Amino acid sequence: MLKPLTEKQTKPNIKPSIFSLELHELEAWLTDIREPKFRGKQIFEWLYKKRVSSFEEMTNLPLGLREKLERDYYIKPLKEVVRQESSDGTIKFLFELQDGYSIETVLMRHEYGNSICVTTQVGCRLGCTFCASTLGGLKRNLQAGEIVAQVLQVQRALDETDERVSSVVVMGIGEPFDNYEGLMSFLKIINHDQGLNIGARHITISTSGVVPYIYKFADEGMQINFAISLHAPNTETRSRLMPVNRMYPLNELMDSIRYYIKKTGRRVTFEYGLFGKVNDSVDHANELADLIKDIKCHVNLIPVNYVPERDYVRTPKTQIFKFLETLTSRGINATIRREQGHDIDAACGQLRAKERKEETR
Ligand code: SAH
Repeated sequence: MLKPLTEKQTKPNIKPSIFSLELHELEAWLTDIREPKFRGKQIFEWLYKKRVSSFEEMTNLPLGLREKLERDYYIKPLKEVVRQESSDGTIKFLFELQDGYSIETVLMRHEYGNSICVTTQVGCRLGCTFCASTLGGLKRNLQAGEIVAQVLQVQRALDETDERVSSVVVMGIGEPFDNYEGLMSFLKIINHDQGLNIGARHITISTSGVVPYIYKFADEGMQINFAISLHAPNTETRSRLMPVNRMYPLNELMDSIRYYIKKTGRRVTFEYGLFGKVNDSVDHANELADLIKDIKCHVNLIPVNYVPERDYVRTPKTQIFKFLETLTSRGINATIRREQGHDIDAACGQLRAKERKEETR
């Protein structure tokens, strides 16, 4: 069974990041310390438009206010520890947080723009048997501001060539719904027109299927793209791959997804990793088609990324196409995920896992 998150994991003892504050929260803090509310917008402009990295640079604020900001909030940029560039333009960053933990962020370049994959937790408690992110368990949740800071840091790198982060996928290390509050603030801040102004339809979140939060998220009414890591067409196989399925079995998961679609009118994406001989036969494809035939969805087939600590094998290309064709012939909308950054450990958790191993040597 999954262990509940501890207080230390949800409320780490670190200085609050200034980037965790939504505009109205910043304004409430200003009111508390008897400063005028309009300073909130000024601060937001320094943070998100001018993208400064110290309170000192906020020259139109009175010195006293800058000192109070310094006293109460953390503003320093994430420390870049490693930057790996792939031949296809993908860049993977390993960033260090204020308490020394490291996280990964990936920038992917597409014809339609720059997309960034962000991390929501240091490690993960879910224990999916194919995934590198979960190998050392969960250390802690990121503050909303530490997720925002990843986007900002990559945006700063892109500022040099006058480019922009145009879309965000929350598919890095961690389970976003295990950090629900942090995730919601993050989404609101990057979406805000005075924040980073990234449109909801350019943001995608992915969950392993933490069912109660799927209902909650459906009720938020956000126009954000929603993906679910399904990976199996039946509950037995899914439990083998993903322990979260023992807590929230497949039928409950599917019910919550039907609720989400009914509530939002949006379609969902199912991520389906193809693991050699585990879930990749034509029978599995047919079983999957039966499972989702009445659901408004798209299936994203993911060729498994090899993780040295895990012993899954890749499905041969011909078999991947057979799987795809079976789905398509059954009227299911499906594609194979294009792989990027293969030469730089770009699959989530791989770089961090490698770094951790080096640390403990
Ligand atoms: N915890 C969330 C967010 C992570 S998203 C979730 O589970 O959805 C990262 C995606 O990559 C998930 O679909 C995950 O299942 C998948 N993944 C993890 N390790 C993988 C591997 N070795 N090969 C292929 N996909 C993998």
